[in-house]
Amino acid sequence: MSTRRPRPSIGAETVDRFVYRGLPAHVVFGHGTRAGLGEAIARVGGRRALLLSTPHQAEQARVATTGVDAIVAAFADATMHTPVEVTERALSVVQEAQADCLVAFGGGSTIGLGKALALRTDLPQVAIPTTYAGSEMTPILGQTENGRKITLRSDKVLPELVLYDVDLTLGLPAGISGTSGINAIAHAVEGLYAEDSNPIMRMMAGAGIAALAKALPQIVVQPRDLEARSEALYGAWLCGTVLGSVGMAIHHKLCHTLGGTFDLPHAETHTIILPHAVAYNAAAAPEAMARLSEALGGGVPAGALFDLGRAVHAPAALRDLGMPEEGIDLAADLAMQTPYWNPRPIERAGIRQLIAAAWAGERPAATY
Ligand code: NAD
Repeated sequence: MSTRRPRPSIGAETVDRFVYRGLPAHVVFGHGTRAGLGEAIARVGGRRALLLSTPHQAEQARVATTGVDAIVAAFADATMHTPVEVTERALSVVQEAQADCLVAFGGGSTIGLGKALALRTDLPQVAIPTTYAGSEMTPILGQTENGRKITLRSDKVLPELVLYDVDLTLGLPAGISGTSGINAIAHAVEGLYAEDSNPIMRMMAGAGIAALAKALPQIVVQPRDLEARSEALYGAWLCGTVLGSVGMAIHHKLCHTLGGTFDLPHAETHTIILPHAVAYNAAAAPEAMARLSEALGGGVPAGALFDLGRAVHAPAALRDLGMPEEGIDLAADLAMQTPYWNPRPIERAGIRQLIAAAWAGERPAATY
């Protein structure tokens, strides 16, 4: 098979409104697409929908869905990392309201709640994402119970319909936009060199990274820039699809370990680790690095990703997120414990150097 792959083209297109019909989700993308929510609920077979959000977005969700008669109740207590206790409370509301459909309005936390409910009830879901986390495109659910996070994969949790409305992302604070967007880029970066990657995924990954890398610095300067917001949301969709379709490698494993062990914030941890994980893998994945360099506008990918983090004013050092210095060795040990696929074998000395540099906020080395 040829190694030449289709080139990303979205950067040259005006993304006004378009509909993408793929398997297994139906995706509607554009400005003002929330006006089609009633139709979306009907399309998935719903007549009595439960609206989900975080407390913070309850009002935004209510206003955005005003006039949609099929929404019969709301549950506005979605919480980070999908605690089972919250899901159980939401389940009671599903039953009381006799809901036959779920509308998840928000970021990965709210979409996670929709997925957790769908797992238990098989109700169809309409997701309206308002961050760049990409959870709406994956059959993955992480739930926490008694302080432990357990991740599962099931087609039951994949939303049937995703309604991307760029307008709803305009108020996402610049800081969250930057780290949430780089979190999405991380999915696509690992999709470029995933063990089970394929040309379609690499095409989506390249296009997703290019769109986000271009849009994020502009969003930080002008958070309400519609074009940049369109490009970023489109990129997040593509990157989320990659996360849901192929396996992840050392970057995601490290972030999972660090986040769980030291209770570090999700998107910031991804933003700090990514340039270092890329440096670690660079020599072992030359084709992926060439594609990544192109998507980032040229240069050495690890350095370009580090600079992108600075351009969006993200934290550079794990120590600034509260990780103790003595955690470096512990994290390196934990990374060695569960063997997993990575383009380069997992070597403790290199992994320790990588974590130490990320802890201190240093520019990534050429390799570790
Ligand atoms: P989030 O959903 O926790 O949102 C962060 C905060 O921003 C919340 O208070 C939210 O209400 C607010 N917010 C969201 N959109 C807004 C907007 N447009 N305007 C103003 N405020 C807004 O954050 P997230 O980064 O989207 O999601 C993180 C969670 O998603 C984590 O638990 C992570 O594990 C999970 N996740 C899961 C997957 C998956 O495939 N299962 C993928 C990515 C992330």
